[in-house]
Amino acid sequence: MSRLAERTSRIDASGIRKVFDLAKKLKDPINLSIGQPDFDVPEEVKKAAHEAIDAGKNTYTPTQGIAELREQLIAEEKEFTGREWGADELLVTSGVSGGLFLALLALVEDGDEVIIPDPYFVMYKHLVRLFGGTPVYLDTYDSGFGIDPAKLEALITPRTKVLLLNSPANPTGRILSRGELEGVAAVCRKHGLLVISDEIYRKFAYVEMVSMAEVYEDTLMLGGHSKAFGMTGWRLGYACGPADVIQAMTKVQQYSFVCAPAVTQFAALACPQVVLEPYIDAYRAKRDLMVGILSECFELGPPDGAFYLWAKAPDGFTGSSFVEKAIANNLLIIPGNVFSEKDTHFRICYTVPDDKLKEGAELLCRIARGEV
Ligand code: PMP
Repeated sequence: MSRLAERTSRIDASGIRKVFDLAKKLKDPINLSIGQPDFDVPEEVKKAAHEAIDAGKNTYTPTQGIAELREQLIAEEKEFTGREWGADELLVTSGVSGGLFLALLALVEDGDEVIIPDPYFVMYKHLVRLFGGTPVYLDTYDSGFGIDPAKLEALITPRTKVLLLNSPANPTGRILSRGELEGVAAVCRKHGLLVISDEIYRKFAYVEMVSMAEVYEDTLMLGGHSKAFGMTGWRLGYACGPADVIQAMTKVQQYSFVCAPAVTQFAALACPQVVLEPYIDAYRAKRDLMVGILSECFELGPPDGAFYLWAKAPDGFTGSSFVEKAIANNLLIIPGNVFSEKDTHFRICYTVPDDKLKEGAELLCRIARGEV
């Protein structure tokens, strides 16, 4: 008998980690693989963190999160989506990862099905499996990485528990339009389906960004500070949704994470002081630079938001074989099969200095043209 619980065998180490391990072996690679911002935590937020530590705000907080932050987040959500969440409809979490973990643990039982648009953020399928569920993939390749309501409806069975949306999306950068969200909402409403909407990249939107919470009442919205404020290591996020789901998540948090990190919660009170436009403009310019070079040689997914490009491997390559070739040329990107049941694409992250981006994009084109 194995001493490890069977559930641990249902998941494997993320494919991204394997690429990072490879990265360690390369000398000064052009690294377009890392999915995090290249800026440090803004000064206002760092200062608030220092002050919180010095003021002794280092203890446990209420499981739901500190009152000031909860009020701030409710106000921000009202401004962004027009929806006013009640006090029992919001939970401060340890990153969006914490929110996903609690939500799926609270919702998914053995044999439940969770619909996941493919390509997807890697964590989704592993968490669903860990909790005994079955990921059911909704292929979005021939709908421009958007969601075709008819295709979605065709996947719904009596065991379908949740639809997991991610817009702006990792890895495609795709943002679902209001019309698309309404189409999805109509299907979900008809079948009484809860939507978990991972909106961690919400601030990085180069086209209109609409929250699923605005168009569909039965939405559990997951938001986070990691990407917008360069706080990936500080572990802060939040969940807004139906009171019964938030309550169940809160119970689980009480006996697991206990609370989101206290210092980070106090520091986040300074986030509204941060002017994000320069960061967003910088990434938009990087996106334009990359799209300008790469669209000559690759078919790209719609680069609507986040900081990723989703490119189709050229003829004669799978996503993986193209990435192997790139790595042999000291360039790191992630093969599409890490994020998909298919192996036709690769992901580029453009949060690196412009000279490296240009070098990387030109090298990718040379590989595509068979010059290296
Ligand atoms: N969702 C998506 C789509 C992500 O890309 C990430 C981070 N890569 C997360 C959730 C997790 O973010 P965090 O836990 O840092 O908030």
